Amino acid sequence: MLSRWAPRKHTKSGVYLYGQDRLEIVDFGRKTDMLTSMPGSFDRDKTLVLPPEETSEDAAGRAVPEPVIAQLDAHLALMGVGFSYGEMEPADIELMMQTAYLVLRDTGRRPIEISSLRLKCLEAHGDENTLIWDNVKKRRYGRKLPITRETAAVIRTWQARRRQLEVPSRSQKYLFPSITDRSGIAHMGASLANAMREWVAAIPVLLSDELDEQGNRLPFDRSLIFPYAFRHSYAQRHADAGVPVDVLKELMDHRSIVTTMSYYQVSLKRKREAITTMRKHTIDRSGRPAPFTSTTDYEAQSVAVPFGNCREPSNVKAGGKACAIRFQCAGCGFYRPDPSYLPAIEEHVNDLRADRETAKAMDADDFVVRNLTDQITAFTNVADTMRDRLRRLPQDEREEIEEASGVLRKVRATRDHKLLPLTVIGKETPDAC
Ligand code: SF4
Repeated sequence: MLSRWAPRKHTKSGVYLYGQDRLEIVDFGRKTDMLTSMPGSFDRDKTLVLPPEETSEDAAGRAVPEPVIAQLDAHLALMGVGFSYGEMEPADIELMMQTAYLVLRDTGRRPIEISSLRLKCLEAHGDENTLIWDNVKKRRYGRKLPITRETAAVIRTWQARRRQLEVPSRSQKYLFPSITDRSGIAHMGASLANAMREWVAAIPVLLSDELDEQGNRLPFDRSLIFPYAFRHSYAQRHADAGVPVDVLKELMDHRSIVTTMSYYQVSLKRKREAITTMRKHTIDRSGRPAPFTSTTDYEAQSVAVPFGNCREPSNVKAGGKACAIRFQCAGCGFYRPDPSYLPAIEEHVNDLRADRETAKAMDADDFVVRNLTDQITAFTNVADTMRDRLRRLPQDEREEIEEASGVLRKVRATRDHKLLPLTVIGKETPDAC
C-alpha cells in the first residue's frame, strides 16, 4: 500500500524517488503488464493519496509576530540546550541550532531548505552576501538570496566550527549534518522542529500583544511557533515594510504573484481606518495643514502619486498617470502629502541629489542643476515639516499614524506593483555552491 507522501528513497544510482514517483512506476507497471507476478495488494491506496498541495500554503496569517520574535531572540542562548544530537558536544549542538534558527528567521526559507543548506552556501562580493539554497519543493536548485552581513557572519561562525567537526560521511557537504550515517537523509531533518519545540517550551514567559480585561498582556500561544511560521514572518515583515509585491515574489521564489499577494491583503476595514487616521495629517506643498474633510474625500478626490496625494482633477480621473508637469509635486498647488509618504519622499530626495551630481559631472546647463536643487529644497521642506509635526504629537497618536502609514504603504505596494528586473537567480548545480 503506497501513499503519495511516502518518504523518498535514495537508490544505488543516487536518484531520489519520491512517493509520487513510485506510484507512477506502479501505475506504469500495471498498464504495461510488467507487474503480473506482483500481488494485487501492492497497489496505490486512494484513501491515502492527499490532494495536491494548495497554493495557499504560503498564505499569510501564520506568521510569528515580530514582538514575539524579539522575545525569542532574547532567549536565544536557551536554543539547543539539553538537546541531544548523536555524538555531538552540547556546545556544538547549541551553536548549530541557534544558527539554524537565525538563518530561518532572517531568510524565510522553508525548514527543509535550511536543513539542507550546503556547507559552501555563501557567496560574498564586497559587502554583498548571497545565500545559495535549493528550492527543494519546486526542485529549483542553486537559488540565490541576498542576505545581511549579520546573517552571513552567523553562518560563517558555524561553518568554521562545522569544518572542525567529525560528521557522518554522507553529511560532509551539508551545513547541518545528520545525526548518524544511518539517518534517513544526509542532512538535518526534523531535529530543527524538535529543538525549537523544546526551546520554546523552556522560555519562562512569552507574551502576545493582546490584553486581558485588566489591560495585562496575554500569554502567546506557543503552539503557533514552529519552523515554517518564520517563512510567513519573513514575508509579512517585508510586506509591512512596503517592499513591492514583485520584489517579494522574487525573494520568496514564488512562481505566481497571486501567492505572494496574499501577504499584502489588507482588509477594507483596516484600510478605511488607516485613511481615517491619515486624512487629518495631510499638508500642502508649503507645509500648511490641509486635511481631507472625510475618508471618502481622501479616496475619491485624490490619487496616490509617487510622493504624495494629488488633487489635480484630470490626474485624479486618470488614476495618477496624467501629470502635466512630470511629478514635480513639491512645487505644485495640488500636492497633498501625508506621513505615509515620508520614506518615498526621503528616497526621492536622495535620487535627486544623485541626479544633481550626475548633471554637474555632465556639465549640464545651470537651469538643469537649479531645477534639481529647487526640487531637493522643496521636498526636503515637506519632509522636515511632516517630521516636525509628528515629533510634536503625543506618543500614542504617533504610533497610530505609524501603523496607518504601514497599512497605506502596503495598499499602494499592491496596487502599484511594477515588474522590475531586480533579482538575478541563476540555475546552478548543487555542487557549485
Ligand atoms: S505635480 Fe501636481 S498634478 Fe502632478 S502629480 Fe504632483 S500634485 Fe499632481
